[in-house]
Parts: sequence; structure tokens; C-alpha cells
Amino acid sequence: MVLAYIGLGSNLENPLDQVERAFQELGSLADTSLLARSALYQSRAIGPEQPDYINAVAQLETSLAPLDLLDALQSIEQAHRRVRLQHWGPRTLDLDLLLYGNDTIQHPRLNVPHPYLTQRSFVLYPLADIDPNLQLPSSQSLQTLLSQCPFDGLVRLPDTR
Ligand code: ATP
Ligand code: CA
Ligand code: CA
Repeated sequence: MVLAYIGLGSNLENPLDQVERAFQELGSLADTSLLARSALYQSRAIGPEQPDYINAVAQLETSLAPLDLLDALQSIEQAHRRVRLQHWGPRTLDLDLLLYGNDTIQHPRLNVPHPYLTQRSFVLYPLADIDPNLQLPSSQSLQTLLSQCPFDGLVRLPDTR
């Protein structure tokens, strides 16, 4: 079993509901359990002008191989009727494989750690909710990355569940 971290994002069609359902769907994947979830965050979109995002991170324990996990994430995105119109455009659901154990993966379909992980406040702060002592495969610590990453308009939403 491997610990994997998934970044969730949505800015269309009731994003809070999209993310909530996605957590449940991640927990229902074969050979996988949902161990922890971060708080929910609201972030400004990168790319073209579009609504703010709801972001969060899930910690999974899985025996799925990395590409099988990516397939599973993409099927969930499809089930949320994600449509790809423009690069970094608005979407009902985005699921990024942020970390897969201590693995570094370079494959045409999959780069892990996620290439922009180290620069994105909407990924780093939720990761710290789950494991503030996290180390990347590069041995960089999450704390060091956070110290270099401004909160930057990110809003941590109160837990209303
Ligand atoms: P960004 O990568 O900057 O977050 P994005 O999430 O908008 O952008 P997508 O359109 O969702 O990008 O994905 C494009 C492709 O990225 C996917 O088809 C997938 O094969 C590939 N990909 C590479 N590495 C990863 C990863 N770690 N997690 C998810 N997809 C990945
Ligand atoms: Ca993404
Ligand atoms: Ca993606």
C-alpha cells in the first residue's frame, strides 16, 4: 500500500458539491481508502478570467499502480462531465495526482510529484492540513515550500459539515 495525495479543484456547477462528491468517490475507488481530507479553500483562478475555485487535498492509501490511479481519477472527472475547452479553463472537477509515495514518475501521461505543486498555495496549504511534516521525494520539506509561498488570496473556509 502507498500513500497518495490528490489535489481537488472545481469552479463550475456548484463547486462545493462537486468537491464533496469527489471526496466520496475517491473513498469508493477499488483497492483504495480515503485516510484524510484537508479543509476546503477558495482560490483565485490561474489562466483565463473565470470564477474562483474551491480546492482541497485528499490523502489516499492505495494499492493501485500510478497509471491505474490516474485512470481512476480521470474517470471520476468524466463522471463530473468535465469538458476541456481551453488550457487552464474553468472545469467542474480537476483531480491531480500530487504525490505517490516517495516516487518520482516521468511518463507521457503522468508526472509526479505534480510539476506545479511547489508553487501553488492552493495545494501546499491543504497538504499541510493533512501532514505538516511531509517531505517530497526531493527531500524538500513542505515547511520550506510553505515559507516561500505566500497565502496569496487563498481563503480557508470554515468547516460546516
Ligand atoms: P495543471 O497540470 O497545470 O494542474 P490541468 O490540471 O488543467 O493543469 P489537465 O487538463 O487536467 O491539466 O491535464 C492534462 C494532462 O496532464 C492529463 O491528461 C494527464 O495525462 C497529465 N498529467 C501529467 N501529470 C499528471 C498528474 N500528476 N496528475 C494528473 N494529470 C497529470
Ligand atoms: Ca490541475
Ligand atoms: Ca488535472
